[in-house]
Amino acid sequence: MKKIAILGNGVTAVTAIREIRRLDEEVPIDVFSDEKHAYYPRPKLINYIRGDVDEKQVIQYDTDWYENKGVNLHLSEAVHDIIPASRSVLTQKETYIGYDRILMAVGSHPFVPPIHGTEKKNVHVLRTLDDASDIKEAVKGTGREIIIGGGILGIELAAAINKDGGEPIVISNIGTLLPDQLDQGASNILMTRLQKIGISVLMGFSCNQIQGHEVATGVVSDKGDKVKGDLVIIATGIRANTKIAKDAGLEIGPGRAILVDKHLQTSERGIYAAGDCIEWEGICWGIIPVALETAKIAAKNIVNEGSAVYEGTTPSNTLQVAGIDLTSVGLFNPRSTEYESIVMADSEEGTYYKAVTKDHVVVGGIALGNKKVAFKLRKLIRDKINITDQRRTIFDV
Ligand SMILES: Cc1cc2nc3c(=O)[nH]c(=O)nc-3n(C[C@H](O)[C@H](O)[C@H](O)COP(=O)(O)OP(=O)(O)OC[C@H]3O[C@@H](n4cnc5c(N)ncnc54)[C@H](O)[C@@H]3O)c2cc1C
Repeated sequence: MKKIAILGNGVTAVTAIREIRRLDEEVPIDVFSDEKHAYYPRPKLINYIRGDVDEKQVIQYDTDWYENKGVNLHLSEAVHDIIPASRSVLTQKETYIGYDRILMAVGSHPFVPPIHGTEKKNVHVLRTLDDASDIKEAVKGTGREIIIGGGILGIELAAAINKDGGEPIVISNIGTLLPDQLDQGASNILMTRLQKIGISVLMGFSCNQIQGHEVATGVVSDKGDKVKGDLVIIATGIRANTKIAKDAGLEIGPGRAILVDKHLQTSERGIYAAGDCIEWEGICWGIIPVALETAKIAAKNIVNEGSAVYEGTTPSNTLQVAGIDLTSVGLFNPRSTEYESIVMADSEEGTYYKAVTKDHVVVGGIALGNKKVAFKLRKLIRDKINITDQRRTIFDV
C-alpha cells in the first residue's frame, strides 16, 4: 500500500491513526483538518467553559504526536473536493493525488432550526474550541444565558455556565429532558435536581425568534411567550458533514449521513467513512463510543481490505452534570408489550433507576444518581443473566 488520506482530525481520525500504525508502521498518512488546533476531545470543551482547564490544556495531542507517528498533519487546510476516480484530495492550497485509501472522518456540525434572528450578535453554537472560547468570552459580559435545547449538550453547557458564575436557563420545545437518554420519570427528577442547583428549566417552549436589534436580548416562543437573556446558545442536535461526499457522488442515506456498508466502506471502493458522519443500517449515532469502534474497524479494512466487520454499538451514555451521575444503556424506553420495566424512584434523594427486561433478561435501563447501579445494569445486560430471583433486589449495590 502506498498512501492514505484522512479527512478530519477529531477522535475518529486519531483513533484510526493509532490503529493503522499498530498494523503498519510505514504507510504514509496525510491528515487534513479545517481547524487550526491539533487534536482535542470535544467533551473537554465543557471543562474549559466551566473554568477547570485553560485553552492549552484542552489540546490532547500536539503536533509532536503526529510527527512521532510519522503522520503529515495539514492544519487549517479544509478539503474542498475529492475525486474518487484518481483518489485525489483538493484543498484550498493544493491538489494531492493518488491515495490508495481515503477515510472520511469529517464529523458533524450543529443543527440550527429555522429560528428568526440567529445571525444576531451573542447567538452561539458549540462544536469547536473556537466556539467554546467565544462562549467563554461572552458569558463574562452577560446576565442570563439562554440555552435552546434540553439534550446532553444543552444540560452540560448549562451546568458549566452555572459553575462559571452564570445564570443559565434551558428551554426545550418538548416535555422531556435528554429525550435520547431518559424517560419522563427520570427527566422529572433530573429537572428538580437541576433547579435545586440554580439551573432554570422551561419545557414546552418552542422558540421561533431571537429578539434584539443587532444583539440578542431574549427569545420568543411560537405562542408569543418571552424569555429575556443576553446570550443565546443553540444546542438542538447535529447533522453529519456530507458536502464533499455528496459532491464526489458518494451515496448519502435517508438520515442525511454518508452511507457505509459492514466494512465501513462508502459507495465508492477504497473510500471509507467512520464516526459522526456515517449512516450504518439506517442509524446515525453522533457519540464517541461509535466513533472509537468505527474508526478501528475502518482502519483495519483500510490496511487489510475486508478484514473487519462492524456489527453496531450498544448505545450507552454516561454523563455527570454538576455532580449528578446519569447513565442510560440499551433499550430504556420500550414501546412494545414484550418488554417489562422495573422502576425505583426517590424524588427526595433525586434518584431514579429503571431496568427494562425481555424474557427476564435485562436489555436496557437508566441509573440517575448512582454510578454503582449503572455498573450493575451494564453487567446484567452484558452477562444476559436471568433476573427472576433478583427482581426485588435488582438495584441493590
Ligand atoms: C461540547 C461537546 C461535548 C460532547 N460530549 C460528548 C460526550 O460526553 N460523550 C459522547 O459520546 N459524545 C460527546 N460529544 C460528541 C462527540 O464529540 C462526537 O461524537 C465526536 O467528536 C465525533 O468524532 P468525529 O471525529 O467523528 O467528528 P468530529 O469530532 O466532528 O471531527 C471531525 C473534524 O473534521 C473536520 N472537518 C469537517 N469537514 C472537513 C473538511 N472538508 N476538511 C477538513 N476537515 C474537515 C471538522 O472541523 C472536525 O474538526 C460531544 C460533543 C461536543 C461538541
